Amino acid sequence: MNLHDKRIAVGGFLHETNTFQQQRTTYADFAEAGDRTPLTRGPQVLERFSGVNTSIAGALDVLRPTGATLLPLPWTSATPSGYVTEDAFERIAGMFVEDLRTALPVHGVFLSLHGAMVAEHCEDPEGELLASVRSLVGPNVPVVASLDLHSNTTPRMFELADAMVAYTTYPHVDMAETGRKAARLLSLATSGRRLEKAYRQVPYLIPLTWQCSTLEPSRSIYAAAARLIDERVASTSYTPGFPAADIRECGAAVFTYGWDRDATQAAAESIYRMVLEAEPQYAGRLYSPNEAVREAMRRSQSASRPILLADTQDNPGAGGSADTVGLLEALLRQRAQGAVIGVLHDAEAARAAHATGRGRTVTVGVGAKSGAWGERPVVRSWTVERLGDGRMTCRGPMMTNWQLALGPMALLRFGGVCVAVSTKKVQAMDQEPFLHLGVEPRAERIVALKSSVHFRAHFEPIAEDVLVVESPGAMIVDPVMLPFKRLRPGLRMRPLGPTFPLVNQ
Ligand SMILES: [Zn+2]
Repeated sequence: MNLHDKRIAVGGFLHETNTFQQQRTTYADFAEAGDRTPLTRGPQVLERFSGVNTSIAGALDVLRPTGATLLPLPWTSATPSGYVTEDAFERIAGMFVEDLRTALPVHGVFLSLHGAMVAEHCEDPEGELLASVRSLVGPNVPVVASLDLHSNTTPRMFELADAMVAYTTYPHVDMAETGRKAARLLSLATSGRRLEKAYRQVPYLIPLTWQCSTLEPSRSIYAAAARLIDERVASTSYTPGFPAADIRECGAAVFTYGWDRDATQAAAESIYRMVLEAEPQYAGRLYSPNEAVREAMRRSQSASRPILLADTQDNPGAGGSADTVGLLEALLRQRAQGAVIGVLHDAEAARAAHATGRGRTVTVGVGAKSGAWGERPVVRSWTVERLGDGRMTCRGPMMTNWQLALGPMALLRFGGVCVAVSTKKVQAMDQEPFLHLGVEPRAERIVALKSSVHFRAHFEPIAEDVLVVESPGAMIVDPVMLPFKRLRPGLRMRPLGPTFPLVNQ
């Protein structure tokens, strides 16, 4: 498509906020993120993501060859955590306004958003950002956003954006592809085609752990949604949502775009009905830490590949502190052999290991530094097996070419159990942090991971089996257990579960 006379602004602002996590997400968390690219402004926004599996990189792949003049807006993302501070949101939103004003006039805007950000003073920051953008560009300039699959996609976001396209995979292996899809829609809209749109909100919350798109029922829903795309329907999205957000519009949504009004509406209705019918299937087995370790030890006797334990509730990708020790204690208690757990966020233990040196022993408490859940650090005389500087490039299918700067890291061993610790928090989405510390995951018998679902992209292909473990952590699997105050009345708090508000609340 030839857009050589058009000006298109491109940027991104991403955060997934777990409002039940005590730790606030500050401006510094965006400016200096360790597990992703730090806050970027200016021409670098258009250059530094090349070849990385992220939506802005995909969007730029499509927009560059159109000949459009591309104008940078800020790009920033921070590790999932608690409420974004008012200061952080307002400062960054202010940068968007400033840079967009400089870029005007524009004929189109591409935004890479997450969709599940919550700020201290605002339940729908993405809606707020879209409103600011809209007020600058006016009603007729197309504004198109890519969204995470965990977006709590609000009616306001839907109203303000001309189109939104969400990832269709969890683990998110299609981030760049989603950016490409959104940019194609933006190109068409910028060249004058008018998009119809439709939106439905789903009446029940879906636990993160069961949203995996390689498992049922999501696998079939995404496949069917993709089949609905034709010459009349341009885009179909289903965001099962991020349930650990105490906001009115929390939960799943379906939204479609197209060139024909009836077909676009019918596509949204069809996906919505599939999601309603799938309600009983969003469930699965959870193991206690002791059960999981016992079962993994038993199965690993006859397996040639590792058994994976997903420490699903302490998933730092959903706001977990990545330092709870329920599973580590169970591994030590049962004297597991050939076991590794990671990545635990523990700057203090990493520092102590570096001060001690490789091959020596250090008596230090590992984990539980965030002090949540009444846990205490696990004190042992650990052997310092390996040290690392935490700088690496990921190679797995999801984090392709992501650069990590996790600060000093160490591999500590007690008996047959190794613990990987890092200075900055990271979800175990890629094998690289383990390889960095000399651990070859496929050679282990038991690999315990701080992750809900994303680990599956890079670890499941090398594993015998996956057991999902219910150990302490901020990403409570069952949303009914969360102290919600602000959901919309009538929303079912889990599949087939009670509605909000609970009568005894
Ligand atoms: Zn996500």
